[in-house]
Amino acid sequence: MAQSPTPSYPVGAYYLTIFGGVVIAFVGVILFFAGITFTIFFSEVGTTILTFSFLGVLVGLLLLVCAWMLRRAHRWTPAIGVLIVLLAGASLPFTLGGFGLGFVLALVGGILAILWKPSAHGPMFVYTTPAGAAPNLPSLQRVCPTCGAMSSPGSTFCSKCGKPYA
Ligand SMILES: [Zn+2]
Repeated sequence: MAQSPTPSYPVGAYYLTIFGGVVIAFVGVILFFAGITFTIFFSEVGTTILTFSFLGVLVGLLLLVCAWMLRRAHRWTPAIGVLIVLLAGASLPFTLGGFGLGFVLALVGGILAILWKPSAHGPMFVYTTPAGAAPNLPSLQRVCPTCGAMSSPGSTFCSKCGKPYA
C-alpha cells in the first residue's frame, strides 16, 4: 500500500492568505469605484478614497505574492508568516481589513505560517510497498522534510529538491 507524500508546505496558511488577499484586493476595487463616484461631488474625499483603494489593492496583491512564496521558499516560511501578519495589519486603514474578513483570514494564515514546522509535518521515514513487490516486504523510504519527495533510505540528500538531510 503506497502512501502519498505529506504536503510539504503550510496548506492552511496558503489558502487563508490567498482568500484574505483576494478579499482585501476586492474591497480595494470597490473603494476605487466609490472613490470615482465621490470625486465627482467631493473631490477631496474622493481623492483620499482613491489613494486608499490603490494601497488596499496593493496590500491584497502582496498577500497573494506571500501565498505564492509559501509554496516555494520553505526555509522562509516563518518570515513570510510575519510579513503576512504585517500586511493584514496594513490592510486595516486602507480597506478596513477587507471589511474585517480579509484581515482575519490573512492574520490566521500568517500565524499558521509562523507556527508551521516542516519536521513536525510528517515522519522522516515511511514504509511503502513498491509496485509489483510482495506486499509483506515493504521498503523503507526516506521522506524529504522540505518537499515531501521520497528517496532511498541511504541517501543523504533529496533526489527531488536537492536539500541535504539533517
Ligand atoms: Zn526534497
